[in-house]
Formats: sequence, C-alpha cells, structure tokens
Amino acid sequence: MAVASGSLTVLGSSGGFPISGFACSGYLARIAGQSLLLDCGPGIAGALIGADAKAGIDGVVISHLHSDHVLDLIPLGYALMTEWLTDGRTQPVPLYLPPGGLEFLQSFSDLFGHRNWRFTEEGRNAGYQALGAALARGRDWLLTVFDAREYEPGEDIAFGTTTIATFPVDHRVPTAAMRLRLGAMDFVYSADTRFLPALGHFAAGTDLFLVDAHFSGPKAPGGLHMTPADAGRLAAIAKAKRLVLCHLGAPEDGASARQTAAAHFDGEIHVAFDTREYRL
Ligand SMILES: [Zn+2]
Repeated sequence: MAVASGSLTVLGSSGGFPISGFACSGYLARIAGQSLLLDCGPGIAGALIGADAKAGIDGVVISHLHSDHVLDLIPLGYALMTEWLTDGRTQPVPLYLPPGGLEFLQSFSDLFGHRNWRFTEEGRNAGYQALGAALARGRDWLLTVFDAREYEPGEDIAFGTTTIATFPVDHRVPTAAMRLRLGAMDFVYSADTRFLPALGHFAAGTDLFLVDAHFSGPKAPGGLHMTPADAGRLAAIAKAKRLVLCHLGAPEDGASARQTAAAHFDGEIHVAFDTREYRL
C-alpha cells in the first residue's frame, strides 16, 4: 500500500516574542493532503497566509494558552472570516484547545470581536448569510469561523484519518506535547516544558523530535523550559532519529545551541528556523 505523503514546515520558532525574520511558535503539518497548524503565535498568520489571502488550513491544535503560542488566532480568524464573506465558505476550521481554551477564546472574542456587526444584504453568498445569521443570534464571528473544542492533555485527538496522541508536560499551565504521523515520518513536538524523562519515552523511536530549547546556559531557570543540553538528553532517551531545537530565546545562538545539544545526543541535530521544511 502506498504511504500518504507528509511534511512539517517551521513557520516560526522564536521564543517569547517575534523578531525580524523569526515568528513565534507555529508549525504546519501536512498529512495526506490536509494541513494542520500546530500553535499560532505572533507572526504565524503572516507566515501562513499567502498573497491569495487564503489560510489554507484544515485544523489547528494549540499546545497551551501562552501568548507566544496563540495571539495570531485573531488575524487568522480575520482571514477565515474574509473567506466566508467573499468566497462563500461555510465550514468552520476545527480548533483544538487545552483546558480553559473555550473561555479563553470567548475573552478574545469579547476583546476583539464585533458582535454588533450586522450582515443583512440580500443576495450575497452562503458564507455571508451564515455569518450574518450567527451574528444575529449573538454569536461572534471568531466563534463562528473556528469550531473550537477542548482536549485534555493525554487524550488522543482525531483529525481526519490521523490520530494526534497528546502527552501532558509540565509548563505550569495545561500543556500538551503531540505525536503524529506525517506520511512515512513519525513526528513529536515537545511544546513548552521543563525537562521530563517521561516525555523522552512518549517520543520513543520518533523520526523527527522538535524540542523546546528556550534557555541557553547550563540550567533552565524556574523549570519552565529546557536548555539545548536538556533537549539533547531528551532526544537520547527517545533514541530519536533527528532532533530539531526550537523556541530558542536567542535564535542567533543557534550554532552554540546545536553544539551543546550534540554533547548529549549523537543523532542528527538541526536548529529550527522559519520556513524550513522536513520530509522523510
Ligand atoms: Zn509557554
């Protein structure tokens, strides 16, 4: 049987805040013709949406509710709303959020939504009519263009024909690492977390292990993130084929981060930078 194609594109991997040329966290997984966005930090909407103004995504999974992983849900929502209004789109994009996500999205909607808008022109397309009907019911556009639901870290998420396994990591707020197949390639994303040997076991044997290496230096202060050395140790536990260091607090230190990780892991090591694509 032919294996469906798949790939992973780094749209942004900067830590904490975007800098010129480096958006915050956002990774585009392509699986059997479907596109799934993992995290949506500042800069991701611009990295994702092409000149045709189409987002081209079939689903979004958010690892946790920190601003550097979610803020661009607003501009992404605007792009989707435009698809409804101008192209007649009526299908919301599934959006999987960790616990508290629905309330969080509601507060986004309260802050940035436009529940007082009314779309009442006759003869416009089906998307315009559907959005107008939702607003008339008091449902904001943001909660209409996304079909938002919560998942519990540790629970599987069904997306099309793919299952996304999630794993609860430790980042002081509910946060999930994720494991999924991208065609022939197995892929694990650590999300943000302190060093947890159990995460290495969750990632056992993976082809591509994308690991938070936010802090440089020998120790991760406060236990919120890992260092490149931690990432190397974790990839060694997992016996991963390829380690990709991401979420670096100082992306310009990529070469030294790679060198530090290499002292703990003898497989292939990359430093994620924006728009890098991985395939098997
Ligand atoms: Zn975080």
